[in-house]
Amino acid sequence: MRLQKYIAQAGITSRRKAEELILQGRVKVNDQVIKELGTKVDPKKDIVKVDNKIVKLEGKKIYIMLNKPVGYVTTVKGHPDDKIIMDLIEGIDARIFPIGRLDKDTSGLLLLTNDGNLAYKLTHPKYEVQKKYLALVEGIPNSKKLNKFRKGLMIEGRKTARAYVKIVKSYGNRSLLEIAIHEGRNRQVRKMCEYIRHPVINLKRIAIGKLELGDLEVGKWRHLTDKEIKYLK
Ligand code: URA
Repeated sequence: MRLQKYIAQAGITSRRKAEELILQGRVKVNDQVIKELGTKVDPKKDIVKVDNKIVKLEGKKIYIMLNKPVGYVTTVKGHPDDKIIMDLIEGIDARIFPIGRLDKDTSGLLLLTNDGNLAYKLTHPKYEVQKKYLALVEGIPNSKKLNKFRKGLMIEGRKTARAYVKIVKSYGNRSLLEIAIHEGRNRQVRKMCEYIRHPVINLKRIAIGKLELGDLEVGKWRHLTDKEIKYLK
């Protein structure tokens, strides 16, 4: 990436001002003064300094939503045979990571950021941030089972926290459920539906707190708006 873009993306100043800094000899790459405007830097390897202070891209916070397709693994680096979510995100030079996970068979809203504080807040159960899902399940759960689901079920020796569930519609021998939980245990929604004997056929996350996936196409990503970032903080 071009040096002036690096400096601007780090949130130090505008790109034009960054060019001035370079021309004034105030910018170093790996301890060498660089006055060439087009110089390329590798954000993962090179050390950029402005007025002898290290400038990091992570200084600028990035918030992205992805509509994760089924079949992709939620990881930054994966086995070469796996399709990973990072294959879907191009043009971001900072080191971003997913907030929480969606399992390989689940689609929908996944957030990526380089803001560790926000990641902590959204994933730690003590903050009780609701994650909302649409689950297509086998059969039509009766109210007794739905109440059990709401109150908490024993999954792997530990009771789940209170959950929200309602039947959106039923077709033949399948039902579409809207579910909200604030814990993030491994494959939790699938295990909870399995427990009440209505296994999941299809699972999609549609919201995290007040942030909604909306009509973002499957496999596409976009930056969050300032308003959306405020919803989450
Ligand atoms: N629950 C699941 O079962 N899978 C997910 O990916 C998220 C929640």
